[in-house]
Amino acid sequence: MAQAPRVRFAPSPTGYLHIGGARTALFNYLYARRFGGNFMLRMEDTDQERSTPESVQAILDGLKWLGLEWDEGPGKEGKYGPYFQTQRLDTYRTHSERLIAEGKAFRCYCTREDLEARRAAAEKEKRAYKYEGTCRELKAPPAGRRVEDAVIRFKMPREEGTVSFNDKVLGVITKPYSDLDDWVMLRADGIPLYNFGCVIDDHLMDITLVSRGQEHVNSTFPQLMLYQALGWAPPEFAHLPLILGPDREKLSKRKHPEADVMLHKRNGIMPEALLNFVIRLGWGHGNDEVISREQMLEWFDFADVGSTSGVWNPEKLLWLNQQWFKLLPPATVAERLVPFLEAKGISARGDARLEPLVLALRERARTLEEMATTATIYFRSGVTLDEKAAAKHLTGDSLKLLAQVREQLAALPAWSTDAVDAVVKAVSEQAAVGMGKVAQPLRVAVTGNTTSPGIGETLMLVGRDEALRRIDSALTRTA
Ligand code: GLU
Repeated sequence: MAQAPRVRFAPSPTGYLHIGGARTALFNYLYARRFGGNFMLRMEDTDQERSTPESVQAILDGLKWLGLEWDEGPGKEGKYGPYFQTQRLDTYRTHSERLIAEGKAFRCYCTREDLEARRAAAEKEKRAYKYEGTCRELKAPPAGRRVEDAVIRFKMPREEGTVSFNDKVLGVITKPYSDLDDWVMLRADGIPLYNFGCVIDDHLMDITLVSRGQEHVNSTFPQLMLYQALGWAPPEFAHLPLILGPDREKLSKRKHPEADVMLHKRNGIMPEALLNFVIRLGWGHGNDEVISREQMLEWFDFADVGSTSGVWNPEKLLWLNQQWFKLLPPATVAERLVPFLEAKGISARGDARLEPLVLALRERARTLEEMATTATIYFRSGVTLDEKAAAKHLTGDSLKLLAQVREQLAALPAWSTDAVDAVVKAVSEQAAVGMGKVAQPLRVAVTGNTTSPGIGETLMLVGRDEALRRIDSALTRTA
């Protein structure tokens, strides 16, 4: 690669960071990092009604949570700024005036009502509306209209021709000029429309490759016409396949809550798992499923992005999260578990049991939320017995065994996993019953239920005094 790539993520800040945006950001980020380039963030905040500072913040927070740090952009000013389109209006004005002067764009004075009526008429006749070219040749505003009222339209060449590009994912795509019309570049108030702002910025910001969702393929044609008119070389393009929800409908904010990146954070999915999940929506490396950031950086290229849609598989996300529980250091998982425990009223920061707890629970829990729910019994005082479990395991002979265990546990000189296990073994041998006959009543007494990590480990995590108190309470309850 001759030139270090400069790529960008250019969200419109009109809501939270969604999964499609996260994927676009991830692919661009990886490409820039892998090839020693630059990953830029540009806010396309031209929709003044829907763009909000909260959305900007939500996007920045989402990217940071995923660890997709941008090299330039909001909060990281560089020589290509400003990085908010609404702060670049002079630039758009200058370039549109230049195009008018060169006869490649024109002011259009048609009123909104007029255009709407024309569009409605076309719809009635079931033909696609295309701007008629009404104002193409006007040299001055018509009577009653002022220059300030005009929008600026691109002057599409009238001769026959085609525009095409070689997409890195989709291959060569071509469109005849006749499919395009004199599209609006700039509104009367100086706000650029997407195609115009995007091209001006991508060029001035020296972007070498534009990667975005496939819904923008059709925008690429008018954009290429503009590059041509301005005498600028266009960047490369890589349009990413669609992402479908679990129902196989296009993943959308409206229909699919899982489109919200931060929902997964709240649900207890870890960023490593979500990134791992997202990279597989359209890209693959052999049969590899669990992919680390290092591997992503080593392997990712747009050449391996497929054109078939990625389908959301909720089970796979949970599975990946569990894999990442096992791959990350327990201290890291423990750190992330703390806020989930706090949300349940348990302050566990600094508790020495956190890491052993993660080691014990990560075999079963699939999210931090699940892990925290299971973990509550180790922190609260007392336990609520599951009635069914108690009815089965805390009666008759089982209670006698439990009383024996209690006695021996209380006599232990030191409380450890092995010591507890040894007591369970000794009591079962004395009574000539299987270990389960002793361990299960003990487990129910201490955890309230029939599933938990190994019995020694469980009692270790609950702690000596609390464990004995729970056993006592089980013994009195049913005595
Ligand atoms: N603002 C556009 C969007 O969020 C950007 C598309 C592009 O990357 O060119 O969809």
